[in-house]
Amino acid sequence: MIYTSPYTHKVRKGSPTAAKKVRFKFHVVSHTHWDREWYASFQQYRLRLVRLTDRLIDLLERTPEFRFFVFDGQTIVLEDYLEIRPENRERLRNLIQAGRIEIGPWYVLPDEFLVSGESLIRNLIVGQRVGAPFGGVMKVGYSPDSFGHVAQLPQILRGFQIDNFIFTRGMGDEQDHLGTEFLWVAPDGSRVLAVNQFKSYCNGNQIGFETTQENAGESPRFDLVVDFFKQETQTLGALTKPGTDDTRHLLINNGCDHQEPQADMPRILAYANNVLQDSQVEQTTYSRYVHTLRRAGLSLSDWLGEIHSGKRHFILSGVLSSRVNLKQKNDAIETLLTYVAEPLGVLLGQLTGAENYAGFLQQAWKTLLKNHPHDSICGCSIDQVHRDMLPRFEEAQQIGRLALASSLDFLASRLRRERHASAVVVNTLAFARPGVVRSVLLVPPDTSLKEISLVDAEGKAVPTHVIKTRALYAQRGYALPEAFLRVSSQASSDVRPLDYAAKRAQLDVDIANHNLNVHTAQKPWKAVELEYLVEQAPAAGFRVYALHQQASPRLKEGVTVRGNVVENKFMRVKFAADGTFDLFHKATKKEYRRLNVLEDTADLGDEYDYSPALKDKSLWSRGQRGKLKITHRSPLAVEVEIAGTLRLPVNFDRKRKRRNARLVPCPVQWKFVITAVSPWVEVELKFENLAQDHRLRVHVPAPLSVQQTLAGQAFYTAPRPLKMPAAKDWMQAPSPTMPMQNFCAVEEARRGLAIFVNGLYEYEASKITGGVGLAITLLRAVGWLSRGDLATRRKHAGPFYATPEAQCLGAHTFHYAIMPYAGAAEKLNLANMAQAYRVPLFEEQCTGAGGNLSGQFALLHCEPAALTVTAIKRCEQRNTTIVRLFNASTERVRGHLVWGLPISHAWRVNLAEERLEEISVYSKARIELDFPAWRIVTIELESGRKIAGA
Ligand SMILES: [Zn+2]
Repeated sequence: MIYTSPYTHKVRKGSPTAAKKVRFKFHVVSHTHWDREWYASFQQYRLRLVRLTDRLIDLLERTPEFRFFVFDGQTIVLEDYLEIRPENRERLRNLIQAGRIEIGPWYVLPDEFLVSGESLIRNLIVGQRVGAPFGGVMKVGYSPDSFGHVAQLPQILRGFQIDNFIFTRGMGDEQDHLGTEFLWVAPDGSRVLAVNQFKSYCNGNQIGFETTQENAGESPRFDLVVDFFKQETQTLGALTKPGTDDTRHLLINNGCDHQEPQADMPRILAYANNVLQDSQVEQTTYSRYVHTLRRAGLSLSDWLGEIHSGKRHFILSGVLSSRVNLKQKNDAIETLLTYVAEPLGVLLGQLTGAENYAGFLQQAWKTLLKNHPHDSICGCSIDQVHRDMLPRFEEAQQIGRLALASSLDFLASRLRRERHASAVVVNTLAFARPGVVRSVLLVPPDTSLKEISLVDAEGKAVPTHVIKTRALYAQRGYALPEAFLRVSSQASSDVRPLDYAAKRAQLDVDIANHNLNVHTAQKPWKAVELEYLVEQAPAAGFRVYALHQQASPRLKEGVTVRGNVVENKFMRVKFAADGTFDLFHKATKKEYRRLNVLEDTADLGDEYDYSPALKDKSLWSRGQRGKLKITHRSPLAVEVEIAGTLRLPVNFDRKRKRRNARLVPCPVQWKFVITAVSPWVEVELKFENLAQDHRLRVHVPAPLSVQQTLAGQAFYTAPRPLKMPAAKDWMQAPSPTMPMQNFCAVEEARRGLAIFVNGLYEYEASKITGGVGLAITLLRAVGWLSRGDLATRRKHAGPFYATPEAQCLGAHTFHYAIMPYAGAAEKLNLANMAQAYRVPLFEEQCTGAGGNLSGQFALLHCEPAALTVTAIKRCEQRNTTIVRLFNASTERVRGHLVWGLPISHAWRVNLAEERLEEISVYSKARIELDFPAWRIVTIELESGRKIAGA
């Protein structure tokens, strides 16, 4: 490069920009990428955030030539700043309103694979809500740093009137032909103009300086400035598409992680503009840049599907299994809010005018979203950061549980009074489903319990099994007052429906509490523990079951046990003492052998990536001796428990390059549940991790001939080929472990095997003799935020900090289920099946306070099965109801939704809940639906009747 001194340079005659032919137009966006918490805690980073924002405001006010600044893609930074500097609200607002600072559109910059589709939508909703008083968010799908992107993101962005997407990570070899600008297409056909920040969101960091450190007070070197732009014309210029006027638009991201604005940019850009012969340089914003691209008439190619490769940038897919407890908590709370508390609130609000807790739940969402930034939920930060996440989880969960418990209490008190003790069974999912429910009913002293059966609201007796009865002598011989005759139901979604122990413990707590209000009675009441069949729990509804003194009808196809073999109408399962089982699937006559084997390997990686050790041998649970017990048996359900130990090397000896010879016994306890109506084997695994530097997975081999896997993802089932790309010269070779959400599956013609999970996000599929093996990662125990010596990654992905808590020592509980099936996953709707496993039926004893609700109700009916409801919630801005569905199939579906109560008006709304068009309502309840494949549709419903007292 020729050195051009800034002091000897002469301006060419005439107007420089008018005279030159512009081949390259540089769009320089000054920005900062603000990881809210990462290798420093939130509080530490906020100290820097406040300093940065103070200076930014001063700079922009003082220097009109510093035209624009993009404050990352998230509005939470405004809240974080203004909590400390409330006096600067007006100044900040003026700058944002004037368009000089761009904010949003997200509330936080999330990881897209580790949070639900609804979470992505709520994130954008809250982002808009927080940004609105400042003049609104930028309509740019800006996601600079997240570790890959889910397939449906173009459609989600479109739902917020965002028609573009700017990102850094995730491209594979396709980037060679796509170039830096292309059209990213969602599975439903939604398109956004995508811009690949090819060299990263830091490509123009500290222009004119040799280092990327802050260079406040020092002068830039103008030779470096010129070098920089010339180099970009060669590298970026070669990948960038020309417009119709042959100009290429180059995006220069002037900033990086936690970087302060480069104050001398106006001078640098003016200089560059003067010197560069065929280029024009301009400070701009992402919005303006995208607007220019749109008008430039680029000829763009399409790219369909997820973006999750590591050709140019690390993709860091080991974050899917780092600090698994965070993922489990997040999943439990997302599920509690989305699939339990919100629909139940709408159900009761619509039916009775009761509190729907919408305001509370909005607050819970906002708190939960604070744990969704990529460095937070990914578990790739320092220990302090992840400790700070726990109280946020607690708060959001408490609100969700309170809403659930209060709603159940209210419902139990408003049902018409029955002569008999009765329980109400609540299904918060939007489709009818069967289940086996357990209740503890408190009955008066004179109730005979010789022959009893539960009778549903239509007068039909259902198979009922009495597990246990006991007299309720409270302390000092007092009996319970009738007003307290309630057993708190499982007010949490992380209590599995068949968890007796939790239920008994809760009963004891309740009795102890109620004894404070004793009154005398002659005889003790009785507590009856029952198990009964719910043939079809109404969709987003409830049904009352009353205790009658009559013989229980016999269950036709109940569960049977013979030795270690448990059988129901779907399958026959033979358990072994090592926790594995063989499964014969009746409908397809297929035998699956040796399912559920634990595999433990060394993990020399860090929070970002797994890394195997040379010459390491996997340790397997197969053949380990455990104790097998049938802990519950009835025609309705069978529980099998197996207790054992897994002896694992205590850690990895890095000096000797092998796992430590010293073994530590880690207790393992399995519980398997098979009910009469469940087509899956439900598995609970308690594992006490006393070992370090290892990865624990469960293996599920399937004798199926498959070329691809199916994995749940936000509003999508992602197909992925088993064969991995050759990936020559990639920055990070593709990992065989892949992201999933709620389920993964493999299938051949006419049959398949699915695994449903709670809060587990990583699976691997590999060819094995006679079929395919699925491995689900349970936990990864590592001790470093980042290391530079991994076999799976070339260099550091973050600072080399010790993170002892990422070893995940201590007690863990994992939940998943294994389900063989006939036919195709698409026809079954695996997304809904997974929820049927993941969300229990709730139940509560009716208090008989005397309301007027009848014994059963369904809030909606939706057809066909491919229509998948992901939200029933109150509208954010209006007192109406929002229902969101997507078509979980590759074909167009025509169907309908019938609401359980009169509707006066209905609208199709976008994801931001802005009305698009009014839609027809037939017979005050029915809405016709016509969906292309994978389309997400949101409907707003206005209630057609006034509720007394509402
Ligand atoms: Zn980041």
